Amino acid sequence: MKSDIEICRETRLTPIDRIALDAGIEAQDLTPQGSLKAKVKPAILKRLINKPEGKLILVTAITPTPLGEGKTVTTIGLAQGLAKIKRSVFACIRQPSMGPVFGIKGGAAGGGYSQVAPMEKLNLHLTGDIHAVTAAHNLAAAALDARLYHESRLGYDAFAAHTDLPALRIDINNISWKRVMDHNDRALRMITVGQNESGKTINGLERHDGFDISAASELMAILALATDLADMRQRIGKIVVAYNLDGDPVTTEDLNVAGAMAVTMCEAIEPTLMQTLEGVPTLIHAGPFANIAHGNSSIIADKIALKLSDFTVTEGGFGSDMGFEKACNIKAQQAQRGPDCAVVVATLRGLKANSGLYDFQPGQPLPDSIFEPDSAALSAGFENLRWHINNAAKYGVPVVVAINRFPQDTKQELEQLKQLILDTTFDIHVDVALSDAFSKGGDGAIELAHAVVNACKTPANFKPLYTLDQTIEEKLMAVAEIGYGAKNIELSPLATQQLAQLKAQGFNNLAICMAKTPLSITTDPHIKGAPTNFTVPVRELKLCAGAGFIYALCGNVMTMPGLPEKPAFMNLDLDENGNIIGLS
Ligand code: ADP
Ligand code: MG
Repeated sequence: MKSDIEICRETRLTPIDRIALDAGIEAQDLTPQGSLKAKVKPAILKRLINKPEGKLILVTAITPTPLGEGKTVTTIGLAQGLAKIKRSVFACIRQPSMGPVFGIKGGAAGGGYSQVAPMEKLNLHLTGDIHAVTAAHNLAAAALDARLYHESRLGYDAFAAHTDLPALRIDINNISWKRVMDHNDRALRMITVGQNESGKTINGLERHDGFDISAASELMAILALATDLADMRQRIGKIVVAYNLDGDPVTTEDLNVAGAMAVTMCEAIEPTLMQTLEGVPTLIHAGPFANIAHGNSSIIADKIALKLSDFTVTEGGFGSDMGFEKACNIKAQQAQRGPDCAVVVATLRGLKANSGLYDFQPGQPLPDSIFEPDSAALSAGFENLRWHINNAAKYGVPVVVAINRFPQDTKQELEQLKQLILDTTFDIHVDVALSDAFSKGGDGAIELAHAVVNACKTPANFKPLYTLDQTIEEKLMAVAEIGYGAKNIELSPLATQQLAQLKAQGFNNLAICMAKTPLSITTDPHIKGAPTNFTVPVRELKLCAGAGFIYALCGNVMTMPGLPEKPAFMNLDLDENGNIIGLS
C-alpha cells in the first residue's frame, strides 16, 4: 500500500470554498487561507441559532500502545462512511502537535484512505493556532519576569510612584506559570532563568523555571472551552500566574497582559476548515495531549458542526479513561452538551499489548511477535476492552465497538474478538463493526456508520461523573474511583497544602483535569489490562481558573515529553522538487 503522504498527494481535492458552501458555510463566514484551508468565523453561530443540533459521536479507544490504535483513522473513516450512506456529517479533530509529529507517533491526520487533507499542512503549522497559543503564553511569562525585575530593582513604593501601577509583590518562590514550546524537549523541563554575572541583575532575577509542551498550556484549554471571543478574553484574564507575598493570586489581568494575550490569539478562536480525502468537511481546532491537557477539540467547532449536520464525529485522546473522561466531565459540562454515542476503537495488537503477556517499554517499538496470532493473549487483553465499554456505560452513552483492522490481522483472530464481544453482557447496549477505513476509506466504514446511526436512535442518558458544586476531594475521588476504578486517592503533602489553599481562596466550583499516563488505567504505565484495587497518587494540584479546572498531576507524568532514540523526524526530508517525504 502507498504511504499516507503519497495517497494524500494523489487525491484530487475540492476547493475549500466549495466544501464550505456545500456544508452550509457562506462566504461571509469564511476567511480562506489558500485554496485548501479556511478559517470559519464563530459569528456563524448567531446565524444558526435557531437550527436544531445533530448527533455528537465521540470516538475513544482501549488503553493504547504508544503508536495509537486508530481513533483518528476511525473518526475520519466513520465520517466518510456516514457520508457514503447519505448522512450529512462533519468531523471535528484537534490540531496535531509537532512534538509527536517529530517524536515517536508521527502525524495525526488519520492514515491510509481516511485522512484529513492536505495532511502535511495539518501536521505542520496549519493556520498557526498552536504558535499563537505559544506566543500568548510566553508573553505572559515575559511580562511576569519583567514585573518581578522592575519591582525588585526600584523597590515596591518607587515602582508604584514611577509607573502609576500597583506593586504586585510577586513571590519569586511561588510562580505557577512556566514557559511553553511545541516540541518534545526534555532538556527544558527544569531550567534557570535570569542568570547574571556575579553581582549584576541586568538579565532579571534568577529563579528556577521550566517548559511545558504548548498543548498543555492553560491557553490551549481556554481555546477549546471558550464559547466566543468575549468568553476567551474574559477567561484569559482569570489565569493565575503566581502568588504574591501574602499568598494571594496574581492574574494576567493584574499584569495588564490579558488584553495583549487575547489579541495574540484572536484568530486562533476561529476553527480551520479542511476536508477528508473523500471531501467530508472537517473542522480542526485546539490541541492534543489528553494525558497532560484536556485533550479535546473545541466547543466552538463542535457547535458549528452540530448546527450544520446530522452527525458530528469527534475524538477524545487516548483511552476512555483519558480524553473521553475529560470530554464528558470538563467539556460536556461547560458546553452543556454530552455525546450521543461512544465509538470504542479496538485493535488486535492493542488488546494483546494489554494482556500483560508482552514486555514492552513505553517509548520503545512494539515487539514483532505482537502481530502473530495468539488467541490466549487476545482473550486476556479483551478484559481491557470490556473495561472501556463499561466505562462509557457509566456516563450513560451507548457504545459501538470499531475493530480497526490492520493489514497483518488474521480473519480467525478478528472473528474471535467479535465473538468475545457478542458473548459478553455489558452494562449498556453494545454493537460491533469491523472497520476497514484505513485501507478502503468510507467504503470500509459503512457497517460502522450503520451501527452508529442505529445506536443514535435511542436517546442517550448522558451524565458526568461529578457536578461542579461537589467538593474538590469528592470530584478527585469521582474520577479516580468511579472513572478509573481505583481503591482510593493519595494526596502528597504538597497537594494537601495546595488543596487547603484552593479551598481557602474559594476555587471550589471547578472541574478536575487529571494528568496521568495514557498507557495504563492506573498511574503506572507498566500495569496493563483492567486493574483493580490500586491507588491514584496525586502529586500536585494546579489552579487553571481561566480554563475552569484544577489540574491534578498524578504519578510520574511529565508535562514536557522527550524524544525517543530514533525519532520520526529522522524520516523527514524534501525531495528534489521540494515535496515533503517521510511524513506519516
Ligand atoms: P489515534 O488517533 O488513536 O492515536 P491514529 O488514527 O493516529 O491513532 O493511528 C495511529 C497510527 O496507526 C497512524 O500512523 C495510523 O496511520 C496507523 N493506523 C491506524 N489504523 C491503521 C490500520 N487499520 N492499518 C494500518 N495502519 C493504521
Ligand atoms: Mg488521534
